[in-house]
Amino acid sequence: MKEILLCKLGEIVLKGSNRRYFEDTLCRTLRYRAKHFGSFEITSSQSTITIEPKDEFADLDGMFESVQKVFGIVGISRCAVCEKSMEAIEQTVREYVPQFLVGKSTFKVVAKRSDKRFPLDSMDIAREVGGYVLSCVPGIRVDVKTPEIVVQVEIREYGAYVHAGQFKGAGGMPVGTNGKALLLLSGGIDSPVAGYMIAKRGVQLEAVHFESFPYTSEMAREKVFTLAREVAQYAGTFTVYVVSLTHIQEELVKNCEEDYFTLLLRRYMMAIADKIAHRIGCGALITGESLGQVASQTMQAIGVTDPLSTLPVFRPCIGMDKEEIVQIARKIGTFETSIQPYEDCCTVFTPKHPKTRPELSKVEEQQRRLDFDALVQEALDSSYVEYIPVEF
Ligand code: ATP
Ligand code: MG
Repeated sequence: MKEILLCKLGEIVLKGSNRRYFEDTLCRTLRYRAKHFGSFEITSSQSTITIEPKDEFADLDGMFESVQKVFGIVGISRCAVCEKSMEAIEQTVREYVPQFLVGKSTFKVVAKRSDKRFPLDSMDIAREVGGYVLSCVPGIRVDVKTPEIVVQVEIREYGAYVHAGQFKGAGGMPVGTNGKALLLLSGGIDSPVAGYMIAKRGVQLEAVHFESFPYTSEMAREKVFTLAREVAQYAGTFTVYVVSLTHIQEELVKNCEEDYFTLLLRRYMMAIADKIAHRIGCGALITGESLGQVASQTMQAIGVTDPLSTLPVFRPCIGMDKEEIVQIARKIGTFETSIQPYEDCCTVFTPKHPKTRPELSKVEEQQRRLDFDALVQEALDSSYVEYIPVEF
């Protein structure tokens, strides 16, 4: 039996004249992924993208799983295609539909007929197909008002489609349709979630990771690359810029008051990220900050680090509880990686009494003890790039 995927588009259908651009971007993403699973034809019409295997080697199950992580798609139906006759439709319904009705007690049939030459009209087709379902699924009932599942039959020009129910898509907007932003990616729980959330709004990601080798280890860096690969499952391919803060941290320890270490370090991070973002054409920074979660994330602390970026800083986790962030981390598969216990540059040389209500003038006074611009430049010069492809 020939099976295809029907992908229902979300918000992008609302986008008027831009719609074509959104659909094309989405099709490009799907074609890129499809290459890994064999030969597929991907076409778009009437707010549905159809993914059709071209030969028996194409791995539809693999593609189905991958499509569930593509932003811009709200629902995915697996759909059997058969010849346009009631005999073929009956056989397909009997063989294909029962697997989707396991555990369900009510259904209804919706039939559509775009080929008006088909001898039965939609009502007749729905009635007939309802009969097939009732006779092959024991205990199921028809409920036309609030069915648990809708069985659909569509009579098209070149064949009939039979499908039952819809799987949830990733939602959001196609990646690449809403600009590019630089994610400050640590090894923690929050920043991968922040990247996922902004990518969901159609933003192409790039990432920067700060390390403090040898105070942070190779393992800590590898962990961040693993997280990046996990985020890339949704966000698509991106690069991670790895920047060393070792010298900056050593200078901070030598020259500044301990209570200000974290704040000063975060100012360096913002300034360096801002420079990289400009260089690679990103329009915003993304962080995983959540208000009040730690000393450096009070309103006042954010107030003294935020101005170091000349770009907007997106903080999608700002109003979320840790538990809510963890829930998303589990859903997208980053949680187990994030909780591996490796040190982060923020956790080496941490002050015992970090300032939670810092005054900008005092922070600036501390900052003047070092040559800020020279240290930023030196860190930038030391950076290198790791390419993170989508893995299957
Ligand atoms: P996370 O769980 O994302 O690590 P966190 O609760 O540990 O966040 P902080 O360590 O204060 O919070 O970091 C706040 C944000 O700053 C992070 O979400 C991340 O965006 C950025 N950040 C922190 N450390 C790094 C790092 N080593 N490299 C890149 N970005 C970082
Ligand atoms: Mg952290």
